[in-house]
Amino acid sequence: MNAHVAGYKLRGSNAASIKVHNRAIVIRALLRYGPLSRQALVQLTGLMPSTITYAVNHLSEARLVREIGKDRSATNTSAGRHPILIDIRTDAALALAICMEETSVCVGLVNLKGGLEMTETLPVRQGIAPTEAVRLAGQLARQLQARVDGGRLIGAGVAAPGLVDPATGVNEYASYHDWHNVPLAAMLADEVGLPICIQNRSRAVALGEHWYGAGRGIDDLIAIVASEVIGAGIIIGGRIHTGRAGRAGEIGHTVVVEGGPLCTCGKHGCLEAVASIRALASVARSVLGAHLPGIDAAPDSIVAARVLAAAAGGQPGARVIVDNALHHLALAVANLTVVLDPELVILSGSLFSAADLGLPAIAGTIDAVSLAPWERRPKVALGMLGPHASLVGAATLVFEQLLERGNLLAVGGVDAVSSVTVQG
Ligand SMILES: [Zn+2]
Repeated sequence: MNAHVAGYKLRGSNAASIKVHNRAIVIRALLRYGPLSRQALVQLTGLMPSTITYAVNHLSEARLVREIGKDRSATNTSAGRHPILIDIRTDAALALAICMEETSVCVGLVNLKGGLEMTETLPVRQGIAPTEAVRLAGQLARQLQARVDGGRLIGAGVAAPGLVDPATGVNEYASYHDWHNVPLAAMLADEVGLPICIQNRSRAVALGEHWYGAGRGIDDLIAIVASEVIGAGIIIGGRIHTGRAGRAGEIGHTVVVEGGPLCTCGKHGCLEAVASIRALASVARSVLGAHLPGIDAAPDSIVAARVLAAAAGGQPGARVIVDNALHHLALAVANLTVVLDPELVILSGSLFSAADLGLPAIAGTIDAVSLAPWERRPKVALGMLGPHASLVGAATLVFEQLLERGNLLAVGGVDAVSSVTVQG
């Protein structure tokens, strides 16, 4: 059990929880460095050989790992034989991943190695009713569920917009769609018939990148997700930082321009109102119409993509608009790194599609405001999970809970029937 949780919840350890913890360590070691022999797992984890054998046997019975052959590059010194390599199975446990984007609902199936096996998407309009968004997600989920062996599905992970309380599954507020206190996890559980793990989308992306992407092996990182909205997923000590009530990371609604443009949350001058895709599109329509004909009626995402491409190509008007947005974003992110001292900042989302602009702007500002010596300053990298980072992140919520609890627990504290358990 994690020390941070133990410290706050006064949760002790018993024999059963230690077994679950050890199995989780084996899975994490395999995800990070696998495939590995039992011998290598002993060296990496510091656990006793008998403990590793017991954990691997149990995970093998749960169909989460398997032997994949001999490691010809190494020799077991006591017996003179090549050790057997263990790896994560990709043909067993699958998570259904649901992402509520601003402009679409995406559903996918993700295996335990982070592989997105299939995905379906439907567009949505701003202000869509939660019941309609959930109905669309259910429709897509059933399409995917019909294509796989249902026994592989161990749960559903949801990456949701806005303020989400992962404990209650309630989406308290999503300004873009104007959702208030929507019991999103319960509604989706009814639709898809699986236990639900839910988080704010930026946090899901951060966890996905931490498990499978640019943040592998790095326990202190911030993922900045910038598209139609802007959020931050914060990982501290290998754990998602949620804050007291699940609201940490709302960097998009920090005020960066006093009296600035109106934000969807009702405040003026939020970072999201000056640096999001929507903000770029809005400014471009008002000042760049003559240079980028046809942008008046185009969707925000199309307009912003054209502005970013024009800026990357050296169009001066577009460059001014993009540089202004990146300036505010970079300052906000750099200030966050001064407060949190992460090892890595991961940039994800369509705002960073012109990587030559976004990454240097943010890295340069972090360097300018950092108090740390050069070699200890946070590194900046583009996310590695691409446009489906939210889906992989949503699935990772399910895998994280499977490892941490030993089984899946439905939102609200009721044990869910799961086809896979690593408890025992
Ligand atoms: Zn705001």
